[in-house]
Amino acid sequence: MSATATTHPLDKLSTFEAVNHHLKAAARRLELSDKEVHLITRPYRELKVELPVHLDNGEWAIFPAYRVQHNNVRGPFKGGLRYHPSVTEDEVRALATLMTWKTSVVNIPFGGAKGGVACDPKKMSEDELERLTRVLVRRLDVIVGPTVDIPAPDVNTNPQTMAWFVDEWAQVASYHPGVVTGKPLEIGGSKGRNEATGLGVLVTGLDAMKRLGMKVEGSTVVIQGFGNVGSFAAKFFHEAGMKVLAVSNSLGGVFNARGLDVPNLIRYSELNRDLGKFHGGEPISNADLLELRCDVLAPSALDNAINAKNAPKIDTKLIVEGANSPITAGGDQVLTERGIHIVPDILANAGGVTVSYFEWVQNLQNYYWSQDRVLQELTDILHTAFDEVATAAEQNQVSWREAAFIVAVRRVVAAQRLRWYGYGKKHH
Ligand code: NAD
Repeated sequence: MSATATTHPLDKLSTFEAVNHHLKAAARRLELSDKEVHLITRPYRELKVELPVHLDNGEWAIFPAYRVQHNNVRGPFKGGLRYHPSVTEDEVRALATLMTWKTSVVNIPFGGAKGGVACDPKKMSEDELERLTRVLVRRLDVIVGPTVDIPAPDVNTNPQTMAWFVDEWAQVASYHPGVVTGKPLEIGGSKGRNEATGLGVLVTGLDAMKRLGMKVEGSTVVIQGFGNVGSFAAKFFHEAGMKVLAVSNSLGGVFNARGLDVPNLIRYSELNRDLGKFHGGEPISNADLLELRCDVLAPSALDNAINAKNAPKIDTKLIVEGANSPITAGGDQVLTERGIHIVPDILANAGGVTVSYFEWVQNLQNYYWSQDRVLQELTDILHTAFDEVATAAEQNQVSWREAAFIVAVRRVVAAQRLRWYGYGKKHH
């Protein structure tokens, strides 16, 4: 869905401008100077490279690739690497920026970065993807490293991609599993990484329900997206005693007013893409799914799913953003005016990067944790982060989204003022 399809002025912002729209509201509350706002909105460094890759048919192809390093005052740059035909500099910049605020709001010692290669992995063989990844590592080698910038999987990249990354890094620099996260368990990955983001959606969602005085048992939840985030979120909400009314993927969804049998649906989806044919419910379109009456809505698929046009029809009390930027700035304004509470993406889906942080810690220590320890430490971090955001929202009388930016920006600016000689005195 294109943000420009609606007429609301805020929906015309690019993804990067939309992130900074939310950030600037927080910056005004924190009374930052114009120079400080400039520094925290603009990326620290942007790399654009062209990757020449040998194809299986003996030809060459050249793929544009980007790595945007947004901010590293609190620790090494951190963020995923996506392979997708629609990757643009603006999108990578927006996602890098979001990573800075995500790592800050959950208070893990990383900054923010993102990378992307404009390619169509669905049309490439495994060998071509391996060669592409290895060329990419050689082009990135001067700006990444275990204490500098630590990539991870994102859209269309996976633990295998990270394994190639580690191996190529060992050739061009030295062997260190901490050069990336999201690795297979056999070469230094962390237990608990698969379920981390879905668990984070549950933990922050339940914290939000508690704050709003909502009952958990028997309340209803609708989830868009049934991939890594959506399917684990559905599993955990179901296990918490909530009724999962509907879920969907890119082909459409399935609805059952009495609640879906989630364990069975997960088994079904491992073999079948068309969720609408699941016999435990009836088919529903993605557009209708978003407008179902429910207590909690968790958009966990794609960006801009909710905008100023469909926001008036959303019929829920609480939205937990499993995906990155699932609500446009215009949609956010409409929903907030309607009194619908939103747990913002930088908090709700920070479970993944938090376990990535645990993976990196384990790699540095060469000591590996149990799954229980990973998930318990993740839960503790997210409870603390939610409390800080909800408290900041109450103190400043703002939405949870604006409060999350207040918490995140305050932390980054405090570090910036401490690290830069004379900066604090001259610029504030
Ligand atoms: P995934 O590829 O595993 O799953 C994506 C799901 O969305 C699939 O079910 C897909 O069919 C569905 N989808 C795609 N287009 C759709 C459409 N037009 N309408 C409805 N559904 C559609 O991806 P994921 O890892 O679950 O990530 C989902 C979102 O969460 C993305 O925005 C991603 O950036 C964000 N996110 C993921 C993680 C993580 O750890 N996986 C962490 C933070 C944020």
